[in-house]
Amino acid sequence: MSRIVMKFGGTSVADLDRIRNVANRVKKEVDAGNQVSVFVSAMAGTTDRLVGYVEGISPMHDAREYDTVVSAGEQITAGLLAIALQDIGVPARSWLGWQIPMRTNKVHSAARIEDIGTEELISRMEDGTVCVIAGFQGISEDNRITTLGRGGSDTSAVALAAAVNADRCDIYTDVEGVYTTDPRIVPKARKLNKITYEEMLEMASLGAKVLQTRSVAMAMSHGVRVQVLSSFTNKPGTMVVDEEEIVENQVVSGITYAKNEAQVTIVGVKNKPGIASDVFTLLADNNINVDMIIQNETEDGRKTDLTFTVPENDVEKSQEALKAASDIEFNNVITDENVVKISVVGVGMRSHAGVAATMFKTLADKGINIQVISTSEIKISVLIDAEYTELAVRALHTAYGLDVE
Ligand code: ASP
Ligand code: MG
Repeated sequence: MSRIVMKFGGTSVADLDRIRNVANRVKKEVDAGNQVSVFVSAMAGTTDRLVGYVEGISPMHDAREYDTVVSAGEQITAGLLAIALQDIGVPARSWLGWQIPMRTNKVHSAARIEDIGTEELISRMEDGTVCVIAGFQGISEDNRITTLGRGGSDTSAVALAAAVNADRCDIYTDVEGVYTTDPRIVPKARKLNKITYEEMLEMASLGAKVLQTRSVAMAMSHGVRVQVLSSFTNKPGTMVVDEEEIVENQVVSGITYAKNEAQVTIVGVKNKPGIASDVFTLLADNNINVDMIIQNETEDGRKTDLTFTVPENDVEKSQEALKAASDIEFNNVITDENVVKISVVGVGMRSHAGVAATMFKTLADKGINIQVISTSEIKISVLIDAEYTELAVRALHTAYGLDVE
């Protein structure tokens, strides 16, 4: 007998038939003698609609009321799944975040889970009841409803799995697992049987949307065994595991792309000590997240160009902040939103040389110009013209030997 936490995303509960399908999958785990808790997302499209309502009624809305509204979708699916389970003879009960309680901090719309009441859930699971829980939501110390950020049901599920010492946390979605890259643009993309926490963390934060980044970080720090799998097929998915569990060691495990980046260049900044500090402190004070950075001095060394990337939505804010800063002298600011960040990720990079060289040569052979480069221990990212996204990802996928035969 195992204790399992299951989580079903929006497409898996998109209509009543799919909710019945989910109930049948849950029943299989129960029939196998397992203790089960299930998290559900809102029906596909529901949360977007609710966000639209809030923005429609007032663009400058109160964050607490935003959470009241956008958390509502999960309440519906939790109740419906409990009913569907009861209908096929499986004892089931639903819980909302506050009923658990799923205690979070007060950062509305991006709250962090602090503590989970597990006593009742554990005793109910031990008695054979399936605990169906609304994902994505919690309750603050002020007794207000909070939400965990878009895609947050993954984090709800992993957090409970850690708290009740579950043997596994199965995250059901509409794809069969984690792929070497986006199968929509590379038909030869391959499903990975296993991926390390670290690689998954990089891939999630680099734009692979299968898991919320925070859920991966939490799984890694608590050693939760996470599986990503499809609710529409009966195939095993991708296991997210410790590095020691990986036998077949590819140098590169995955390739991601992120189109929501923009490049900003401050031209002709006066070259003096502290200038980078001034610029990036200014951006940080404006809550602008800078990712890649390069700096180029002019020949005489008196001036420098500073190039960096920011989220596309923050381009205007960056420009305005720079222009308003009287202590930073420069000639001009140039922005380019027509860029994509392509990254190759793999723990094998630690022990293999030449991974970056392969990336640069592959892109050069296709005539693709690299605008900015950044690296970490297990990833290399380049910024290129967005027009070449597919060409670049496909060529790299082949170059690193990831194509499915
Ligand atoms: N329903 C929420 C969202 O769409 C949370 C989730 O699905 O994980 O972001
Ligand atoms: Mg999701």
